[in-house]
Amino acid sequence: MSNRSPETPIPSRKVGMVSLGCPKALVDSERILTRLRAEGYDFSPDYAGADAVIVNTCGFLDSARAESLDAIGEALAENGRVIVTGCLGADPAFITGQHPKVLAVTGPQQYEQVIEAVRAAAPVAPNPLIDLVPPQGLKLTPRHYAWLKISEGCNHKCAFCIIPQLRGPLASRPVHAVLREAEKLAEAGVRELLVISQDTSAYGRDLRHPVHRWRDDEYRTHVQDLAQGLASLGLWTRLHYIYPYKHVDALIPLMCRTSAEAAPAGLLPYLDIPFQHSHPEVLRRMRRPAASEDTLERLAAWRAINPDLVVRSTFIVGFPGETEDEFQHLLDWLEAAQLDRVGCFKYENVVGAPSRDLPDHVPEAVKEERHARFMEAAQRISAAKLAGKVGTRAWAVVDEIDVDGDAVARTASDAPEIDGNVFVEAAEGETFEVGEMIRIEITDASEYDLFGRTV
Ligand code: SF4
Repeated sequence: MSNRSPETPIPSRKVGMVSLGCPKALVDSERILTRLRAEGYDFSPDYAGADAVIVNTCGFLDSARAESLDAIGEALAENGRVIVTGCLGADPAFITGQHPKVLAVTGPQQYEQVIEAVRAAAPVAPNPLIDLVPPQGLKLTPRHYAWLKISEGCNHKCAFCIIPQLRGPLASRPVHAVLREAEKLAEAGVRELLVISQDTSAYGRDLRHPVHRWRDDEYRTHVQDLAQGLASLGLWTRLHYIYPYKHVDALIPLMCRTSAEAAPAGLLPYLDIPFQHSHPEVLRRMRRPAASEDTLERLAAWRAINPDLVVRSTFIVGFPGETEDEFQHLLDWLEAAQLDRVGCFKYENVVGAPSRDLPDHVPEAVKEERHARFMEAAQRISAAKLAGKVGTRAWAVVDEIDVDGDAVARTASDAPEIDGNVFVEAAEGETFEVGEMIRIEITDASEYDLFGRTV
């Protein structure tokens, strides 16, 4: 029997986490941390205080693989007890070949194996005083927003991508499980949900869209019903990684307006669509889903239904075989599409991706030059769009407060971490709270950000 009094603190084991890669990997990190917390582990923000360090790796691009290997090397040098997981962990020999001293290597979503490896590296004594895990789990994002992962894997075979090899085919979560998780997050104070997967518009296709009950209503495991259910919670809800299939049209009427005087609530008029290119031949070579859709026509139809719709996207320039004409098609398309937020990558080879074997790889200097031309056009479009907002009013959520007490906030048009901000200067005696909704007037704009004051 223990002679420890209930007041005596029991030393716990601490785990460090380095989370690399996309929001989907971040959600995996959160799940691992939630499980570890439930078992009595604490977390260390630095290497020195950790009994073991988990490195959640990314293997999407060769540059990401190199970054992951560097992170593993740093964790080994600084701490020495390192467990590797995530996309790069799908190829253990690659990691142990470079870093033979890692304690364990597990692949993506192998939560149980990661926990096992932590238990072995830093066994924790049973602790009767341990806090219970909050029912919504532990979040690596600030409390007022959370990523909501609706499925794993992907059924497509894009030529530049190895995610289906790493993460397997599409595996959707049942709709009531997702809606319940969203409900718990709302109860815990989350005000914004960021819906993620590899292909959000394909949600439920693998299960053939079964119907489940949630809050006395029936919902299909389908993106349209999911969006309806999430919208009913009244939180800001954004859809990421949508492909422009025909059924996406049905989502637009579900979206709220943002130009009204009242704070927007529900499904935001925001779509994150990774177009990657515009030219039909390049899209065909890329083997992109929905490659034959007339995207300009679709964008115009969506904007006619909801003029507040904001579209963000990413593109790849210098894909193998991309001719100057094909690239010019992309620039012309960009001018016509007038997207709100745009990211651009120069094509990179990825080990295992079929595009490596395509003919006519574009020289690095040409890729650089196309990237610069693309970004110049995207920046010009963004600057003109944001300048048009000066003098208007909007609602924004406070993400951070800087040392001067000013707010780093975001309007409904911008997703956290990937889009722009609105910087709101505090008036004399004015204070802000993280997660607070504020009504602002836009007073100035730069290429990517806005500036404002509360009204
Ligand atoms: S849709 Fe294409 S790029 Fe996206 S995860 Fe699937 S295969 Fe990869």
